Amino acid sequence: MERMDHDIVILGSGLAGLRAALEASRVSRGRLDIGIVTKVQAMRSHSVAAEGGTAAVLYPDEGDSFESHVWDTVKGSDFLADQDAVELFVRTAPEEIRLLERWGMPWSRRADGRIAQRPFGGHEFPRATFAADKVGFHEMQTLYGALQAFPNVTFHHEWFATAILHEAGTFRGVTAIDLATGNFVVVGAKAGILATGGGGRIYGFTTHGHHSTADGLCMAYRAGLGLKDMEFVQFHPTGLVPSGILITEASRGEGGHLVNANGERFMQRYAPSKLELAPRDVVARSEIMEIQGGRGIEGPDGTACIGLDLRHLGKERILERLPQIREVTMKFLGIDPVDEPIPIRPAAHFTMGGVATDVRGATELRGLWAAGEAGCVSIHGANRLGANSTAVCLVFGRITGAEAAAYVRGWQGNGVPKEQVLAEEARVYDETLRGNGDVNPYDVRDRLQATMDENAYVFRTGESLASALRVVRGLKAEAYRNVADQERSYNTNLLHVLELGSLLDAAEILLMAAHARRESRGAHARLDAPKRDDVNWLRHSLAHRTSEGPSITYAPVRITKHPPVERKY
Ligand SMILES: Cc1cc2nc3c(=O)[nH]c(=O)nc-3n(C[C@H](O)[C@H](O)[C@H](O)COP(=O)(O)OP(=O)(O)OC[C@H]3O[C@@H](n4cnc5c(N)ncnc54)[C@H](O)[C@@H]3O)c2cc1C
Repeated sequence: MERMDHDIVILGSGLAGLRAALEASRVSRGRLDIGIVTKVQAMRSHSVAAEGGTAAVLYPDEGDSFESHVWDTVKGSDFLADQDAVELFVRTAPEEIRLLERWGMPWSRRADGRIAQRPFGGHEFPRATFAADKVGFHEMQTLYGALQAFPNVTFHHEWFATAILHEAGTFRGVTAIDLATGNFVVVGAKAGILATGGGGRIYGFTTHGHHSTADGLCMAYRAGLGLKDMEFVQFHPTGLVPSGILITEASRGEGGHLVNANGERFMQRYAPSKLELAPRDVVARSEIMEIQGGRGIEGPDGTACIGLDLRHLGKERILERLPQIREVTMKFLGIDPVDEPIPIRPAAHFTMGGVATDVRGATELRGLWAAGEAGCVSIHGANRLGANSTAVCLVFGRITGAEAAAYVRGWQGNGVPKEQVLAEEARVYDETLRGNGDVNPYDVRDRLQATMDENAYVFRTGESLASALRVVRGLKAEAYRNVADQERSYNTNLLHVLELGSLLDAAEILLMAAHARRESRGAHARLDAPKRDDVNWLRHSLAHRTSEGPSITYAPVRITKHPPVERKY
């Protein structure tokens, strides 16, 4: 067992984690010892895949306003967002765009040299700031570059965090496996920031990379923290068939059309004023209704799809604004969007729920904050607007970095709770690595994902959710802690089994919360309860761990200016 200490430990090196490290370094003028624990090489974090944009109000002189961004976000959330948090987010986001600019971000430009912005779904004003269709890649490079000025930051690349250590309601550090050596490491820290991203891999058809496995959410859950609004999963309308690779919403922002087998722009039927740029929950449902109505296009693997038609944009615009989309469709399907529509359908894309925090990202554990997709502040409510996630990562990375830095000033720290460390070591090595399971964990993962794809997709029913819950509980009870590879170095087999434990826990919570919520709101569309029900369900769900499994309670939504109204686009 190795032992080390930092002032602040940050779990995750995506946009939220890097931005938090940068802010904690800036406000402490490089005096704090900061460790970043990340299970991949830092720059392979999922954020590099973000494509289309980062929302912020840059041009009030041209008609945009904070009020408009707040309203779009609250309406987009189907009124489940906490409005004080949205206000803070919207007012902070523009400065993040300018700071990134100062650190070297190559934002795309207008002809007059000013930063360009493009339309995105559910936004009344074109406020998605972008760098072609590689916004996450360039934002990550920019933050990583800015961090090089701070020698106080240590990256622990390829360290897999397994548990949060705590004592008397206070954060004490984390445990991790150094994947290169297989060593168990105990990291003591005065403060922590959880920025471990979402849980897209609970599903099989997803835009997420293989490491989005809800580890951070489940670590927090096991440490007794609440997970908020886990029933709300975003299905992105344009997942490439059959791989699920994202075709950015910017392709519709740039003017792309969605068409059915008859060549009709069917969004005219479902969202006559916003068409393809309605929010994602609306577009995803419309696509499925077209497919179920027999108007789908046959996809490359025989699955019924929708066509994303970019042909009318012309080659020049596609090459300038959507080069990655063209590259992806040509490489993965042999389809050139200059000449042919792209086959797409809704794919699991974003975890709206996450670790419950207050408006400044503080969790229920003193000294621990959560930011980015892992945290639920909550801005996105029941449906996130496109381009708001990267912005949230920047804003709440910044806020939590500053909060954590202020908290540790003058704090001596109290060491780590030894019993928790020993219990975690036993869980990882005795129960899992040397466990006596005999079921193939990869089969269990496949069955989990197939069940979720089938029963907890764009449309759900009480019956489909209950049936999925039975399957997931059955899978949890199977002896899947079966690690064939007993090597110490780079034991990805052990890693996958630990990740599977998180996927199963997160799926169980998601299904329980979804089954309990007998209404349709945002991305949670129940065929057996098709209306929003503000009287009974205008509230957040909160899942806590008990000896009998997850227990779901509810908390009020903070409404400051915008009482719920009917949502039309
Ligand atoms: C393909 C795609 C395109 C997108 N495009 C956009 C867009 O254009 N605009 C927008 O606003 N949003 C977009 N999103 C959403 C947005 O990119 C993500 O929500 C956001 O980048 C998440 O960032 P994050 O910092 O919270 O986490 P991530 O970038 O997911 O990083 C998670 C980090 O946690 C670490 N980690 C996880 N578990 C562990 C563990 N057990 N131990 C140690 N480390 C761990 C990982 O190594 C990683 O560093 C897109 C999403 C996808 C899937």
